[in-house]
Amino acid sequence: MDPDAALLAVAEAARADAYAPYSRFQVGAALLCEDGTVQRGCNVENASYPAGICAERTAIAAAIAGGRRRFRAIAVAGPDGIAITPCGICRQVLSEFSADGRLRVIARDADGVIRATTIGALLPGAFGPDALRQA
Ligand SMILES: [Zn+2]
Repeated sequence: MDPDAALLAVAEAARADAYAPYSRFQVGAALLCEDGTVQRGCNVENASYPAGICAERTAIAAAIAGGRRRFRAIAVAGPDGIAITPCGICRQVLSEFSADGRLRVIARDADGVIRATTIGALLPGAFGPDALRQA
């Protein structure tokens, strides 16, 4: 299987674990770490809506908690027929761990075709740690 398709299959499987009783919009993520491991993530909603967290950030948080900080790619899966890309907050969080902007972001478009881009393309000019050093 194509590596992008394989990673996306993990993200699609992770959707089943999503806790999305309010939006019913289940999202799964699969984060390919530099060491070759894959960390799953899913969205986790909350009755206090802003307390919810996206699939991409649960995957990042779990990977960091497991001692991994270098990542190659993330696949994101939502409902069939809907093009999905990481939200603005997730783009910022992903860019934190991709200083060169080359982290690959993989998802299906509305026709189900697998598309790949980079976090640098999704969030050009991202705010990063260098800005803090200039303060
Ligand atoms: Zn998000």
